[in-house]
Amino acid sequence: MKKIDFQGKKAIMRVDFNVPLDKQYNITDETRMREALPTIKYVLDNGGAVILMSHLGRPLAKLNEDGSVNVEKFTLNHLTKPLSDMLGVPVKFCPETVGETASKMSAALRPGEVLMLENTRFQKEEEKGDLEFSRKLASLGEIYVNDAFGTAHRAHASTTVMAQFFPKENRTFGFLMESEIENAGKVLNNPDSPFTAITGGAKVSDKIVLLERFLDLVDNIIIGGGMAYTFVKAQGGQVGNSLVEEDKLPLAIELLAKAAEKGVRIYLPIDSVAADKFDNAANFQNVASNTIPDGWMGLDIGEEAIAAFEEVILNSKTIIWNGPMGVFEMSNFANGTKSIAVAVAKATKNGAFSLVGGGDSVAAVNQMGLADQVSFVSTGGGAMLEMLEGKELPGIKAVTA
Ligand code: AMP
Repeated sequence: MKKIDFQGKKAIMRVDFNVPLDKQYNITDETRMREALPTIKYVLDNGGAVILMSHLGRPLAKLNEDGSVNVEKFTLNHLTKPLSDMLGVPVKFCPETVGETASKMSAALRPGEVLMLENTRFQKEEEKGDLEFSRKLASLGEIYVNDAFGTAHRAHASTTVMAQFFPKENRTFGFLMESEIENAGKVLNNPDSPFTAITGGAKVSDKIVLLERFLDLVDNIIIGGGMAYTFVKAQGGQVGNSLVEEDKLPLAIELLAKAAEKGVRIYLPIDSVAADKFDNAANFQNVASNTIPDGWMGLDIGEEAIAAFEEVILNSKTIIWNGPMGVFEMSNFANGTKSIAVAVAKATKNGAFSLVGGGDSVAAVNQMGLADQVSFVSTGGGAMLEMLEGKELPGIKAVTA
Protein backbone atom coordinates (compact mmCIF):
# COMPACT_ATOMS: atom_id res chain seq x y z
CA MET A 1 0.00 0.00 0.00
CA LYS A 2 2.57 2.52 1.11
CA LYS A 3 4.68 2.20 -2.04
CA ILE A 4 1.80 3.37 -4.23
CA ASP A 5 1.09 6.99 -5.07
CA PHE A 6 -2.70 7.35 -4.91
CA GLN A 7 -2.66 11.10 -5.66
CA GLY A 8 -5.37 11.85 -8.26
CA LYS A 9 -5.91 8.12 -8.84
CA LYS A 10 -8.99 5.93 -8.56
CA ALA A 11 -8.43 2.81 -6.49
CA ILE A 12 -10.84 -0.04 -7.16
CA MET A 13 -10.88 -1.95 -3.91
CA ARG A 14 -12.26 -5.42 -3.07
CA VAL A 15 -13.44 -5.46 0.52
CA ASP A 16 -15.33 -8.07 2.52
CA PHE A 17 -18.50 -6.25 3.54
CA ASN A 18 -20.45 -9.48 3.88
CA VAL A 19 -21.94 -8.34 7.20
CA PRO A 20 -24.94 -9.86 9.00
CA LEU A 21 -28.19 -7.85 8.68
CA ASP A 22 -31.41 -8.06 10.69
CA LYS A 23 -34.92 -8.15 9.13
CA GLN A 24 -34.96 -4.35 8.81
CA TYR A 25 -31.54 -4.53 7.10
CA ASN A 26 -29.68 -2.99 10.00
CA ILE A 27 -26.15 -4.25 10.41
CA THR A 28 -25.88 -6.45 13.50
CA ASP A 29 -22.08 -6.76 13.47
CA GLU A 30 -20.06 -4.18 11.57
CA THR A 31 -16.61 -5.65 12.36
CA ARG A 32 -15.84 -6.49 8.75
CA MET A 33 -16.58 -2.95 7.61
CA ARG A 34 -14.55 -1.37 10.41
CA GLU A 35 -11.59 -3.56 9.53
CA ALA A 36 -11.46 -2.16 6.00
CA LEU A 37 -11.56 1.48 7.13
CA PRO A 38 -7.78 2.04 7.51
CA THR A 39 -7.19 1.02 3.89
CA ILE A 40 -10.04 3.16 2.55
CA LYS A 41 -8.96 6.15 4.63
CA TYR A 42 -5.35 5.80 3.56
CA VAL A 43 -6.30 6.16 -0.11
CA LEU A 44 -8.58 9.14 0.61
CA ASP A 45 -5.99 10.84 2.83
CA ASN A 46 -3.40 10.43 0.09
CA GLY A 47 -5.40 12.19 -2.59
CA GLY A 48 -7.11 9.20 -4.19
CA ALA A 49 -10.72 8.17 -4.77
CA VAL A 50 -12.12 4.77 -3.81
CA ILE A 51 -14.46 2.47 -5.73
CA LEU A 52 -15.62 -0.34 -3.46
CA MET A 53 -16.59 -3.85 -4.51
CA SER A 54 -17.99 -6.52 -2.20
CA HIS A 55 -20.39 -9.40 -2.10
CA LEU A 56 -23.21 -9.61 0.44
CA GLY A 57 -24.80 -12.99 1.12
CA ARG A 58 -25.53 -15.48 -1.64
CA PRO A 59 -28.10 -13.72 -3.83
CA LEU A 60 -27.94 -16.23 -6.69
CA ALA A 61 -28.74 -19.09 -4.34
CA LYS A 62 -31.84 -17.25 -3.09
CA LEU A 63 -33.54 -15.85 -6.20
CA ASN A 64 -37.10 -14.47 -6.24
CA GLU A 65 -39.83 -16.84 -7.40
CA ASP A 66 -39.68 -15.38 -10.93
CA GLY A 67 -35.95 -16.10 -11.11
CA SER A 68 -34.84 -12.51 -10.61
CA VAL A 69 -32.29 -11.37 -8.05
CA ASN A 70 -33.76 -10.26 -4.70
CA VAL A 71 -32.30 -6.77 -4.87
CA GLU A 72 -34.21 -5.51 -1.85
CA LYS A 73 -32.64 -8.12 0.39
CA PHE A 74 -29.12 -8.28 -0.98
CA THR A 75 -28.37 -4.75 -2.19
CA LEU A 76 -25.13 -3.25 -0.89
CA ASN A 77 -27.03 0.02 -0.62
CA HIS A 78 -27.98 -1.15 2.90
CA LEU A 79 -24.39 -0.33 3.82
CA THR A 80 -24.05 3.07 2.14
CA LYS A 81 -25.31 5.18 5.06
CA PRO A 82 -23.51 3.21 7.81
CA LEU A 83 -20.27 3.41 5.82
CA SER A 84 -20.70 7.17 5.30
CA ASP A 85 -21.11 7.54 9.07
CA MET A 86 -18.03 5.43 9.81
CA LEU A 87 -15.85 7.28 7.31
CA GLY A 88 -17.27 10.75 7.89
CA VAL A 89 -17.44 11.10 4.09
CA PRO A 90 -20.57 10.76 1.94
CA VAL A 91 -20.55 7.45 0.04
CA LYS A 92 -22.18 7.35 -3.38
CA PHE A 93 -23.98 4.19 -4.43
CA CYS A 94 -23.99 2.76 -7.95
CA PRO A 95 -27.00 0.49 -8.60
CA GLU A 96 -25.01 -1.78 -10.90
CA THR A 97 -21.69 -3.61 -10.63
CA VAL A 98 -20.50 -2.92 -14.17
CA GLY A 99 -22.13 -1.14 -17.11
CA GLU A 100 -22.79 2.35 -18.39
CA THR A 101 -23.86 3.84 -15.07
CA ALA A 102 -20.92 2.27 -13.24
CA SER A 103 -18.52 3.65 -15.87
CA LYS A 104 -20.06 7.12 -15.72
CA MET A 105 -20.14 7.29 -11.93
CA SER A 106 -16.55 6.07 -11.65
CA ALA A 107 -15.34 8.52 -14.27
CA ALA A 108 -16.99 11.40 -12.40
CA LEU A 109 -15.43 10.47 -9.07
CA ARG A 110 -13.16 13.16 -7.58
CA PRO A 111 -10.23 12.71 -5.19
CA GLY A 112 -11.50 12.11 -1.65
CA GLU A 113 -14.77 10.58 -2.86
CA VAL A 114 -16.08 7.06 -2.35
CA LEU A 115 -18.33 5.05 -4.64
CA MET A 116 -19.82 1.69 -3.71
CA LEU A 117 -20.77 -0.67 -6.54
CA GLU A 118 -23.74 -3.02 -6.31
CA ASN A 119 -23.23 -6.55 -4.90
CA THR A 120 -20.66 -8.35 -7.08
CA ARG A 121 -22.58 -11.61 -6.67
CA PHE A 122 -25.63 -10.23 -8.49
CA GLN A 123 -23.65 -11.24 -11.59
CA LYS A 124 -23.14 -14.96 -12.21
CA GLU A 125 -19.86 -14.00 -13.89
CA GLU A 126 -18.39 -13.05 -10.50
CA GLU A 127 -18.14 -16.54 -9.03
CA LYS A 128 -17.24 -18.00 -12.43
CA GLY A 129 -14.25 -15.67 -12.58
CA ASP A 130 -15.40 -14.55 -16.04
CA LEU A 131 -12.65 -12.75 -17.91
CA GLU A 132 -14.82 -10.20 -19.74
CA PHE A 133 -16.68 -9.23 -16.56
CA SER A 134 -13.32 -8.93 -14.78
CA ARG A 135 -12.02 -6.67 -17.54
CA LYS A 136 -15.08 -4.41 -17.22
CA LEU A 137 -14.65 -4.18 -13.45
CA ALA A 138 -10.96 -3.42 -13.86
CA SER A 139 -11.70 -0.63 -16.36
CA LEU A 140 -13.43 1.36 -13.59
CA GLY A 141 -10.23 2.04 -11.63
CA GLU A 142 -6.51 2.64 -12.07
CA ILE A 143 -5.14 0.82 -9.03
CA TYR A 144 -6.41 -2.54 -7.78
CA VAL A 145 -6.47 -3.00 -4.00
CA ASN A 146 -7.49 -6.32 -2.48
CA ASP A 147 -8.36 -6.09 1.22
CA ALA A 148 -10.81 -9.01 1.32
CA PHE A 149 -8.85 -11.77 3.04
CA GLY A 150 -12.07 -13.67 3.80
CA THR A 151 -12.53 -14.40 0.07
CA ALA A 152 -8.84 -14.73 -0.91
CA HIS A 153 -9.30 -18.50 -1.36
CA ARG A 154 -11.87 -17.91 -4.11
CA ALA A 155 -10.79 -17.36 -7.72
CA HIS A 156 -13.68 -14.99 -8.40
CA ALA A 157 -13.63 -12.03 -10.79
CA SER A 158 -13.32 -9.29 -8.15
CA THR A 159 -11.09 -11.25 -5.74
CA THR A 160 -8.59 -12.65 -8.22
CA VAL A 161 -9.16 -12.54 -11.97
CA MET A 162 -9.37 -8.77 -12.43
CA ALA A 163 -5.90 -8.24 -10.91
CA GLN A 164 -4.27 -9.28 -14.20
CA PHE A 165 -5.60 -6.16 -15.90
CA PHE A 166 -3.36 -3.94 -13.77
CA PRO A 167 0.40 -3.62 -14.11
CA LYS A 168 2.19 -5.14 -11.13
CA GLU A 169 3.05 -1.75 -9.64
CA ASN A 170 -0.66 -0.83 -9.65
CA ARG A 171 -2.01 -3.77 -7.69
CA THR A 172 -1.65 -4.27 -3.99
CA PHE A 173 -3.03 -5.79 -0.80
CA GLY A 174 -4.81 -3.51 1.65
CA PHE A 175 -3.62 -3.24 5.27
CA LEU A 176 -6.00 -5.92 6.57
CA MET A 177 -4.88 -8.45 3.98
CA GLU A 178 -1.23 -7.52 4.59
CA SER A 179 -1.54 -8.20 8.31
CA GLU A 180 -3.35 -11.53 7.74
CA ILE A 181 -0.53 -12.69 5.45
CA GLU A 182 2.14 -11.42 7.82
CA ASN A 183 0.62 -13.16 10.84
CA ALA A 184 0.05 -16.44 9.02
CA GLY A 185 3.72 -16.16 8.04
CA LYS A 186 4.71 -15.87 11.68
CA VAL A 187 3.34 -19.32 12.43
CA LEU A 188 4.31 -20.91 9.13
CA ASN A 189 7.90 -19.69 8.91
CA ASN A 190 10.30 -20.37 11.77
CA PRO A 191 7.81 -20.36 14.64
CA ASP A 192 9.25 -20.50 18.17
CA SER A 193 8.76 -23.83 19.86
CA PRO A 194 7.04 -25.40 21.64
CA PHE A 195 4.42 -24.87 18.95
CA THR A 196 0.90 -26.04 19.84
CA ALA A 197 -2.09 -26.38 17.53
CA ILE A 198 -5.48 -26.49 19.21
CA THR A 199 -8.23 -27.95 17.06
CA GLY A 200 -11.85 -28.64 17.78
CA GLY A 201 -15.29 -28.40 16.23
CA ALA A 202 -17.62 -31.00 14.93
CA LYS A 203 -15.96 -32.95 12.17
CA VAL A 204 -12.64 -34.72 11.67
CA SER A 205 -13.33 -34.83 7.94
CA ASP A 206 -13.20 -31.01 7.69
CA LYS A 207 -9.84 -30.87 9.44
CA ILE A 208 -7.92 -33.83 7.99
CA VAL A 209 -5.71 -31.82 5.67
CA LEU A 210 -5.02 -29.35 8.46
CA LEU A 211 -4.14 -32.08 10.96
CA GLU A 212 -1.78 -33.74 8.50
CA ARG A 213 -0.11 -30.44 7.83
CA PHE A 214 0.23 -29.74 11.56
CA LEU A 215 2.17 -32.98 11.89
CA ASP A 216 4.99 -31.33 9.95
CA LEU A 217 4.79 -28.00 11.76
CA VAL A 218 4.03 -28.35 15.44
CA ASP A 219 5.19 -30.06 18.63
CA ASN A 220 1.76 -30.59 20.19
CA ILE A 221 -1.76 -31.03 18.85
CA ILE A 222 -4.66 -30.61 21.24
CA ILE A 223 -7.86 -32.16 19.91
CA GLY A 224 -11.14 -31.20 21.56
CA GLY A 225 -14.76 -30.79 20.45
CA GLY A 226 -16.85 -33.43 18.73
CA MET A 227 -13.95 -34.52 16.54
CA ALA A 228 -12.08 -35.88 19.58
CA TYR A 229 -14.49 -38.82 19.96
CA THR A 230 -13.54 -40.35 16.63
CA PHE A 231 -9.98 -40.52 17.99
CA VAL A 232 -11.07 -41.84 21.39
CA LYS A 233 -13.15 -44.57 19.73
CA ALA A 234 -10.34 -45.42 17.31
CA GLN A 235 -8.19 -46.16 20.36
CA GLY A 236 -10.80 -48.58 21.67
CA GLY A 237 -12.69 -46.21 23.96
CA GLN A 238 -16.44 -46.31 24.58
CA VAL A 239 -17.91 -42.98 23.58
CA GLY A 240 -21.63 -43.69 24.03
CA ASN A 241 -23.69 -41.54 21.66
CA SER A 242 -20.99 -38.94 21.09
CA LEU A 243 -20.35 -37.63 17.60
CA VAL A 244 -18.22 -40.19 15.71
CA GLU A 245 -17.33 -40.42 12.04
CA GLU A 246 -17.19 -44.20 11.68
CA ASP A 247 -15.58 -44.04 8.24
CA LYS A 248 -12.74 -41.92 9.65
CA LEU A 249 -11.71 -44.39 12.36
CA PRO A 250 -8.87 -45.91 10.27
CA LEU A 251 -7.68 -42.43 9.40
CA ALA A 252 -7.65 -41.44 13.06
CA ILE A 253 -5.43 -44.43 13.83
CA GLU A 254 -3.17 -43.52 10.93
CA LEU A 255 -2.87 -39.90 12.14
CA LEU A 256 -2.03 -41.05 15.67
CA ALA A 257 0.64 -43.41 14.30
CA LYS A 258 2.15 -40.71 12.07
CA ALA A 259 2.24 -38.31 15.01
CA ALA A 260 4.09 -40.87 17.13
CA GLU A 261 6.56 -41.41 14.28
CA LYS A 262 7.22 -37.69 13.94
CA GLY A 263 7.42 -37.06 17.67
CA VAL A 264 4.32 -34.85 17.69
CA ARG A 265 2.36 -35.21 20.94
CA ILE A 266 -1.40 -35.54 20.55
CA TYR A 267 -3.57 -34.55 23.50
CA LEU A 268 -7.12 -35.88 23.63
CA PRO A 269 -9.56 -34.92 26.41
CA ILE A 270 -9.10 -37.31 29.34
CA ASP A 271 -12.62 -36.55 30.53
CA SER A 272 -15.77 -35.03 29.11
CA VAL A 273 -18.99 -33.38 30.15
CA ALA A 274 -21.51 -35.93 28.87
CA ALA A 275 -25.21 -35.13 28.41
CA ASP A 276 -28.23 -37.38 27.97
CA LYS A 277 -29.44 -35.34 24.99
CA PHE A 278 -28.22 -32.60 22.64
CA ASP A 279 -29.85 -29.82 24.63
CA ASN A 280 -28.73 -27.17 27.09
CA ALA A 281 -31.45 -28.42 29.45
CA ALA A 282 -30.10 -32.01 29.35
CA ASN A 283 -28.80 -33.82 32.44
CA PHE A 284 -25.02 -33.86 32.40
CA GLN A 285 -22.11 -35.45 34.26
CA ASN A 286 -18.32 -35.47 34.15
CA VAL A 287 -17.03 -38.84 32.88
CA ALA A 288 -13.84 -40.33 31.44
CA SER A 289 -13.93 -39.78 27.66
CA ASN A 290 -13.31 -43.48 26.99
CA THR A 291 -16.13 -44.78 29.22
CA ILE A 292 -19.08 -42.64 28.20
CA PRO A 293 -22.23 -44.67 28.93
CA ASP A 294 -24.66 -45.56 26.16
CA GLY A 295 -27.31 -42.91 25.77
CA TRP A 296 -24.86 -40.16 26.80
CA MET A 297 -22.80 -37.92 24.54
CA GLY A 298 -19.70 -35.83 25.18
CA LEU A 299 -20.61 -32.20 24.58
CA ASP A 300 -17.62 -30.50 26.24
CA ILE A 301 -14.17 -31.33 27.56
CA GLY A 302 -14.07 -32.09 31.29
CA GLU A 303 -12.16 -30.56 34.22
CA GLU A 304 -9.12 -32.84 33.95
CA ALA A 305 -8.88 -32.27 30.21
CA ILE A 306 -9.03 -28.51 30.77
CA ALA A 307 -6.19 -28.69 33.29
CA ALA A 308 -4.05 -30.87 31.01
CA PHE A 309 -4.68 -28.67 27.96
CA GLU A 310 -3.96 -25.52 29.98
CA GLU A 311 -0.59 -26.86 30.99
CA VAL A 312 0.40 -27.54 27.38
CA ILE A 313 -0.85 -24.13 26.27
CA LEU A 314 0.97 -22.26 29.04
CA ASN A 315 4.21 -23.99 28.09
CA SER A 316 3.91 -23.01 24.42
CA LYS A 317 5.64 -20.22 22.55
CA THR A 318 3.51 -20.40 19.40
CA ILE A 319 -0.20 -21.26 19.40
CA ILE A 320 -2.77 -21.70 16.65
CA TRP A 321 -6.36 -22.23 17.66
CA ASN A 322 -9.14 -23.33 15.34
CA GLY A 323 -12.42 -24.82 16.51
CA PRO A 324 -14.37 -24.91 19.79
CA MET A 325 -13.78 -27.49 22.54
CA GLY A 326 -17.48 -28.25 22.91
CA VAL A 327 -20.97 -27.11 22.00
CA PHE A 328 -20.13 -23.64 23.24
CA GLU A 329 -23.38 -22.19 21.88
CA MET A 330 -25.09 -23.90 24.87
CA SER A 331 -24.05 -22.31 28.17
CA ASN A 332 -23.73 -25.64 30.02
CA PHE A 333 -21.17 -26.87 27.48
CA ALA A 334 -19.19 -23.67 26.95
CA ASN A 335 -16.79 -23.99 29.87
CA GLY A 336 -14.09 -25.90 27.96
CA THR A 337 -13.95 -23.41 25.11
CA LYS A 338 -13.97 -20.47 27.54
CA SER A 339 -11.18 -21.97 29.65
CA ILE A 340 -9.04 -22.56 26.57
CA ALA A 341 -9.61 -18.95 25.45
CA VAL A 342 -8.43 -17.74 28.86
CA ALA A 343 -5.38 -20.04 28.73
CA VAL A 344 -4.42 -18.79 25.25
CA ALA A 345 -4.72 -15.19 26.49
CA LYS A 346 -2.56 -16.03 29.52
CA ALA A 347 0.10 -17.70 27.38
CA THR A 348 0.12 -14.63 25.13
CA LYS A 349 0.65 -12.38 28.13
CA ASN A 350 3.61 -14.58 29.05
CA GLY A 351 5.16 -13.96 25.64
CA ALA A 352 3.70 -16.59 23.31
CA PHE A 353 2.50 -15.70 19.81
CA SER A 354 -1.13 -16.77 19.37
CA LEU A 355 -3.25 -16.84 16.25
CA VAL A 356 -6.97 -17.55 16.48
CA GLY A 357 -8.74 -18.40 13.22
CA GLY A 358 -12.06 -19.88 12.20
CA GLY A 359 -15.56 -18.57 12.87
CA ASP A 360 -16.36 -20.36 16.13
CA SER A 361 -13.10 -19.87 17.99
CA VAL A 362 -13.08 -16.23 16.92
CA ALA A 363 -16.67 -15.88 18.18
CA ALA A 364 -15.64 -17.45 21.52
CA VAL A 365 -12.69 -15.08 21.94
CA ASN A 366 -14.88 -12.09 21.01
CA GLN A 367 -17.72 -13.15 23.32
CA MET A 368 -15.29 -13.27 26.20
CA GLY A 369 -13.79 -9.89 25.36
CA LEU A 370 -10.36 -11.52 24.91
CA ALA A 371 -9.79 -10.52 21.27
CA ASP A 372 -7.17 -7.93 22.24
CA GLN A 373 -5.39 -10.37 24.55
CA VAL A 374 -4.35 -12.80 21.82
CA SER A 375 -1.73 -11.86 19.24
CA PHE A 376 -3.92 -12.03 16.16
CA VAL A 377 -7.53 -12.84 15.36
CA SER A 378 -7.95 -13.81 11.73
CA THR A 379 -10.95 -12.43 9.84
CA GLY A 380 -10.94 -15.21 7.27
CA GLY A 381 -11.99 -18.64 8.50
CA GLY A 382 -11.76 -20.64 5.26
CA ALA A 383 -8.97 -18.52 3.80
CA MET A 384 -6.82 -18.82 6.94
CA LEU A 385 -7.38 -22.59 7.09
CA GLU A 386 -6.31 -23.00 3.47
CA MET A 387 -3.24 -20.89 4.12
CA LEU A 388 -2.30 -22.98 7.15
CA GLU A 389 -2.91 -26.09 5.07
CA GLY A 390 -0.12 -24.81 2.83
CA LYS A 391 -2.29 -23.94 -0.16
CA GLU A 392 -1.52 -21.00 -2.38
CA LEU A 393 -4.53 -18.67 -2.24
CA PRO A 394 -5.61 -17.41 -5.69
CA GLY A 395 -6.39 -13.91 -4.36
CA ILE A 396 -2.85 -13.58 -2.98
CA LYS A 397 -1.15 -15.07 -6.01
CA ALA A 398 -3.03 -12.74 -8.38
CA VAL A 399 -1.61 -9.65 -6.67
CA THR A 400 1.95 -10.90 -6.23
CA ALA A 401 2.40 -12.84 -9.50
P1 AMP B 1 -16.69 -26.77 13.00
O1 AMP B 1 -17.53 -25.98 12.04
O2 AMP B 1 -16.28 -28.11 12.48
O3 AMP B 1 -15.53 -25.96 13.54
O4 AMP B 1 -17.63 -27.12 14.22
C1 AMP B 1 -18.18 -26.15 15.05
C2 AMP B 1 -19.35 -26.75 15.73
O5 AMP B 1 -18.96 -27.92 16.42
C3 AMP B 1 -19.98 -25.85 16.77
O6 AMP B 1 -21.24 -25.48 16.32
C4 AMP B 1 -20.05 -26.73 18.01
O7 AMP B 1 -21.29 -26.64 18.68
C5 AMP B 1 -19.86 -28.12 17.47
N1 AMP B 1 -19.31 -29.04 18.47
C6 AMP B 1 -18.24 -28.85 19.25
N2 AMP B 1 -18.07 -29.87 20.10
C7 AMP B 1 -19.06 -30.74 19.87
C8 AMP B 1 -19.44 -32.00 20.44
N3 AMP B 1 -18.71 -32.53 21.43
N4 AMP B 1 -20.52 -32.62 19.94
C9 AMP B 1 -21.23 -32.06 18.95
N5 AMP B 1 -20.93 -30.88 18.37
C10 AMP B 1 -19.86 -30.22 18.82
